Amino acid sequence: MTISCQTEAARLDALYKLQLLDTRPSKAFDRITRLAARIFGLEIAAISLTDSDRQWFKSRLGLEQNSIPRLKAPCAEVVDTGGALVIADLLEDHYFRHGALAASGVRYYAGAPLITADGHCLGALCVMGYERRHTTPEEVACLSDLAEMVMAQIELRHTAGRVDPLSGLPNRSQFIEDFQDMKNDCPPDELRLAVVVNLATPEQLGSAARVRSSSYLDELVTEASQWIRSQLGPGRQVYHVGDAQFALFAPPCTTLEEYLPVLKEKLARASSLAKSRHIATPTIGVAPFVLGGADCLDVLRTAQSAAHGAIFQSSRIAIYSRSDDDACQRRFRLLNEFGDALESSSQLRLVFQPRVDMESGACVGAEALLRWTHPELGNVSPGEFIPVIERSGLAQATTAWVLNAALRQQRAWRNAGMQLQLAVNVSAANLLEPDFVAQVEHYLNMYDLPPSCLELEITESAIMEHPERAHATLQAIAAIGVRLAIDDFGTGYSSLSYLQSMPADVVKIDQSFIIGLEDDVRKQSLVSTMISLTQDLGHRVVAEGVECGEVQTFLKLAGCDEAQGYLFARPLEPAGFLAWCGGGAAEAQAGRRLLRALA
Ligand code: C2E
Ligand code: MG
Ligand code: MG
Repeated sequence: MTISCQTEAARLDALYKLQLLDTRPSKAFDRITRLAARIFGLEIAAISLTDSDRQWFKSRLGLEQNSIPRLKAPCAEVVDTGGALVIADLLEDHYFRHGALAASGVRYYAGAPLITADGHCLGALCVMGYERRHTTPEEVACLSDLAEMVMAQIELRHTAGRVDPLSGLPNRSQFIEDFQDMKNDCPPDELRLAVVVNLATPEQLGSAARVRSSSYLDELVTEASQWIRSQLGPGRQVYHVGDAQFALFAPPCTTLEEYLPVLKEKLARASSLAKSRHIATPTIGVAPFVLGGADCLDVLRTAQSAAHGAIFQSSRIAIYSRSDDDACQRRFRLLNEFGDALESSSQLRLVFQPRVDMESGACVGAEALLRWTHPELGNVSPGEFIPVIERSGLAQATTAWVLNAALRQQRAWRNAGMQLQLAVNVSAANLLEPDFVAQVEHYLNMYDLPPSCLELEITESAIMEHPERAHATLQAIAAIGVRLAIDDFGTGYSSLSYLQSMPADVVKIDQSFIIGLEDDVRKQSLVSTMISLTQDLGHRVVAEGVECGEVQTFLKLAGCDEAQGYLFARPLEPAGFLAWCGGGAAEAQAGRRLLRALA
């Protein structure tokens, strides 16, 4: 019987989807093959799968080769007819006598079809012998029962948590199992390459899901899985390890130098295919590893991490880097452990950096700056942990902690007769909190402080994340009498257009404009313009990062109102701050002047 090309294509697709071809032997299948051979009292039995041009044996007993040509193979006939086939003597059959089995001395053949629930015949469970043999109907019935057991085993494996229902590809669990098999079967010093493909960036997936429901992801994954499978061919495995993420291994003995051009070429084709159908930027991460010492989940994680990082590469392909990974691990650790820090009584503290009036040289205020001493990592700079915290759900709790501690300190200063303006940094996320203003009022009331003694510093970029909502919160803060400062002024992109509508009292020129000002004429004219412009708009100007007397003199002449920087004092512990205010400031300045004169 001949079957149509279309039916054969569907049959092959069903076979390939099961990902059985060229996989390792399995005890569960070998057991059934042994049983079949024993029932027939024969020395040869096999589970034979019919590929486009070959019979490949998933399990074999008494057979040397792991495949034979499909042409003139009795199992191929079982597939074509979909029924059991018994040949008492191959040599008496005008067709099969010329096949590979007869050539190897096999005379007797009995095979039962392996049929899927969808009706596709994948191959046969067969027994063979070197003698002509008679077959009873009971024996054929037994063989058919065993063939059904083989299929039950195949389908069970396919559905029992090893295969992704959408792509039909083996999933992460199967990746882990195959990795272990590979470790058992291959030399431990073998160098291999794990590859992770991200179909799109998390942002692209997120925004597509918002406008197009889950059908977008389904289509993307289905099309991509078919394409990757077609590129790899039947002998290679690809795994569906995340929502829109696939993993595979480069063929053994492939070096990075050889494999990168292949990946580049495939990615270029995939990207142009994806572009016409989806808004998706695929990226690839490659993790080289030595088989013996490798931990499967670590290999997968490092390749995934490289694939995420690949978005920053022009080629969209990244090779796992230990230092990038260490930085990523550290960020994750900081984020994970900052919650403990907020609850511990000893890890967080505030230091205070004085703000000095340019005209009188007096200390008029201080900026509260957060410090974290991690129990194992030691001091972690806010430049490192604040950006991590600000993107997490901890930003609000952090500002609450800082407000509480800063206003407690302000109360203590007031009790000691010190009238200072205290500045506290707040994050973009705070401006979105519906009860942020109420929270600020709560802490002011708790320490019985007037709103005017507090200044909140907000960076331009924080405001620009959600301009309308930020603006509303800032108006509400200004309305209760708390002062507002725009921090790091000049580093955002909205400076001038936005500045005029801001209810800010103070503008703090970012230290990148101030440090090195003494030798830079262009910076000098820029800073002069910034000062006069912001003052014209009614703001008080503070220069951050004043490190030397020349800069102080320049700023004073340019009309800057206040300054903050190492020239006056580094951020100080509360006791140091008190000492500095009580005369230390003048002494420190005089000492520095003397040192410069002597130099
Ligand atoms: P910032 O708010 O612009 O704070 C000024 C930073 O410049 C501080 O760094 C300060 O130590 C440093 N600095 C002051 N004078 C000089 C100087 O003359 N030369 C140089 N090179 N640097 C100077 P720090 O304390 O490391 O803080 C870094 C950033 O972390 C702060 O920048 C702020 O954005 C953030 N940050 C610190 N504490 C908090 C906090 O409690 N909450 C929030 N949301 N952010 C904070
Ligand atoms: Mg600040
Ligand atoms: Mg700043």
